[in-house]
Amino acid sequence: MPIDGTKIIHAVMEGSRIRDAKGIIPLFGVYLSIFFVPYYNRVSFEFEKKMGKDQDVEAASLLIEAAQECGYATFHGIQNSWEWQEIVEPMIEKREDQIFGFTAVALAFGWGDMEVRELVPNERLLIRVTDSYEAARYAEDHGPATSGKCYMLRGVTAAFMDLLYGGIYPEGLFTFSAEESCCRAKGDQCCEFLAQKR
Ligand SMILES: [Zn+2]
Repeated sequence: MPIDGTKIIHAVMEGSRIRDAKGIIPLFGVYLSIFFVPYYNRVSFEFEKKMGKDQDVEAASLLIEAAQECGYATFHGIQNSWEWQEIVEPMIEKREDQIFGFTAVALAFGWGDMEVRELVPNERLLIRVTDSYEAARYAEDHGPATSGKCYMLRGVTAAFMDLLYGGIYPEGLFTFSAEESCCRAKGDQCCEFLAQKR
């Protein structure tokens, strides 16, 4: 694996010092902002709660789809940025290396320590995260969950596969979908996301 994650993380950290008067950070071809985790989680989990018991599956699906679409558009922008071309592309030897570039950027963004556990080209991607902000906060605020609660990371894992194997942007969105088999919000040791073709 030739991707030097530390180099990518340093580039993101260095670049994120530049922000406009509103706090917008133009970096890696996309516009970023610093967001408070408790606020994001509250909006997300309160939405699920308000949808009620009969619609909780639908609520979760909507949040996962939103994350997948966001991850797909964001990382498409990142892939086409000059920073990606300058810093990441020289390290890429094969198509799959891009995933390791994505996970390094995601870590630098504060999305979680996404570790690639298994990658079968055009078939499956298994990612493990030990510090999911969604899982930690959910358990704190709502007690133990009965299902995986990391909707953002679940959508993003599928989005990575959409970008690599879904075909020409933006037609590839939702080519893959991901499940969260274990989640710290349920009391598991870590969260794991498996993306497979729909
Ligand atoms: Zn989780």
